[in-house]
Amino acid sequence: FIGMVSHELKMPATSVKGLIQLIETKTTRSGDDKSARYLKVIDGQINKLTALIDDLHDATRIEAGVLQFHDEFFPFDDLVDEIVDAMQVTTERHTIVKEGGTRKRVYGDRNRLGQVLSNLLTNAIKYSPHSDKVIVRLTSDRKTVSCSVQDFGIGIAKDEQSHIFERFYREQGQKGVTVPGLGLGLYIARGIIERYDGRIWVESEEGEGSTVSFIYPLGDDKKQHATAQAEVQPSTHERR
Ligand code: ADP
Repeated sequence: FIGMVSHELKMPATSVKGLIQLIETKTTRSGDDKSARYLKVIDGQINKLTALIDDLHDATRIEAGVLQFHDEFFPFDDLVDEIVDAMQVTTERHTIVKEGGTRKRVYGDRNRLGQVLSNLLTNAIKYSPHSDKVIVRLTSDRKTVSCSVQDFGIGIAKDEQSHIFERFYREQGQKGVTVPGLGLGLYIARGIIERYDGRIWVESEEGEGSTVSFIYPLGDDKKQHATAQAEVQPSTHERR
């Protein structure tokens, strides 16, 4: 049902977005600044709506084991830089600090891994409204890369920590902080990481902050394994 609903919502949301951008261009050209400002707000809200619909869509596909992956080799640190830069512009309060690096090329779906890191950073920012720093740490060894995102926010109660990767799970009464969300970000992140035989986990102290980390294997057999599991055509890179 959720899959069907998200699919049906996607089309009209996409066409509304297209139309708003069209009107936005016309309004800006005509010099009507006030309307252009309103349209920017509407566009922002449509983006949020589309992101929610995409999350619903991805979550149902993970549940059914049919989420598509387009695997390729890529430098892991470049992806992290890209996502950190994109997330940095979404927050005025927080500074996202990068520590370490892996200098590794990994094999996997670049967009999906980017989605994992975006979800972790979105949470780190959302759940630390009174602090101003988020740290992204990168390490590696011969067989893996690891990435952790630490915030200094509200933290997660011990008995809740094992549940936060479940579908639609949201911690109740989190220190009076009301933050919007569907409870799908971490479920999707786990689905993506586990698809590549990685692991994702949380360490947290209530009132002190949380660190969500994942470890991602890059073994030589990785490419073969991932290709065998892919539900889609191999990427162009693969076919060459
Ligand atoms: P959402 O944030 O949309 O609710 P997620 O799946 O990303 O969904 O997270 C599930 C729940 O885990 C959140 O509702 C929140 O209670 C808790 N959580 C996740 N990340 C953090 C964090 N960095 N700090 C505190 N709580 C968190």
